[in-house]
Amino acid sequence: MKIVRIESYVAEQKVDTPFSFSQFEFQTRQVCLVKAVAEDGSYGWGEGYGPATVVRAGVDFLAPLVCGEDPLHVEAIWNKMRLRALDYARRGVLVAAISAIDIALWDLRGKLLGQPVSVLLGGRRRERVKVYATGLYFTAADDLVGKLVEEAKGYAAQGFRAIKMKVGLDVATDVKHARAVRQAIGADVELMVDANHGYSLSEALSFARRIEELDISFFEEPVSPEDYQGYRELRERATIPIAGGECEYLLEGFRQLLSGRCVDIAQPDICAAGGLSEVKRIVALARAHHVNVIPHSWGTGIAFAAGLHLVSALDVLPGRMRMPEPLLEMDRSENPLRDNLTAPVFQVEDGKVDVPSAPGLGVDVDPDMLAELTVSD
Ligand SMILES: [Mg+2]
Repeated sequence: MKIVRIESYVAEQKVDTPFSFSQFEFQTRQVCLVKAVAEDGSYGWGEGYGPATVVRAGVDFLAPLVCGEDPLHVEAIWNKMRLRALDYARRGVLVAAISAIDIALWDLRGKLLGQPVSVLLGGRRRERVKVYATGLYFTAADDLVGKLVEEAKGYAAQGFRAIKMKVGLDVATDVKHARAVRQAIGADVELMVDANHGYSLSEALSFARRIEELDISFFEEPVSPEDYQGYRELRERATIPIAGGECEYLLEGFRQLLSGRCVDIAQPDICAAGGLSEVKRIVALARAHHVNVIPHSWGTGIAFAAGLHLVSALDVLPGRMRMPEPLLEMDRSENPLRDNLTAPVFQVEDGKVDVPSAPGLGVDVDPDMLAELTVSD
């Protein structure tokens, strides 16, 4: 069996209510999707994280290397793509392009072998995965605190047992927001904060100390992803677990983050850090450093399904009789692409989502919707 075609698409849709995080505002959602097609017509879907048109250019650059290869040999193909990119892009968006193709090949391989990706990753340790709601972004609402409180209550009412909110505006405002949200959701729902590297080290430390009393499960991307020393110092001085890695790429990037003792929780994005092939290796490296992985996930159902399969097969540290449960991020911010383009639309029940049992990733793309939403060249 040979791969005959790698198709790339950029889909885009406007959001009704623009929203922002500590770095910039979103008015549209955009994604680069990849379809790997085999000679018998079977296919797999992949997705890249990052600026979609740039990811697509990377996919188109790499596609000739992949065509003609046997889709069962996913990691051999990965190595070929990686070697071709190494001279130009040791990190960054070209790695997201590799990731998108790699995920499509894992999906295709699963379909050809008649097995879900989680089985191919080593086996399903769990049929349902605990998810946390990512939301609570900043908007132009007159009463932002009131809006955050209502949104947080909504996630708790939907059954989420863990919620992550955005911070990184300024320390005083962020403390006010975090206190209001904690009060609204009560003590039984986990709360996490994400600064998207909006703080200096001293601001991050001040913020961490001021929210210590709020029982925060982790503090994500406190400082610049380039500031490994800052991560390490914060982790040594703060009591809240430190998380990071969504801007990190490949095993080598995570080696720096992990060997530097920068994080308590590593957050590779499967659609950016190197695909399932590489994130599987990042999980092993994190394990060797006694660090758990909670994948970053911010895209369509393809990205989310890849996360579900990975977490289904994930080993959690430390091992004990009452095993801690791993987590997966479930973005709840407005994303019409996630809701319209891919099926199934994943449902949360008691804070968990079922891992698809169909061969491959267990998600498909609506071809009519894709045609409608694809940005023309
Ligand atoms: Mg984040």
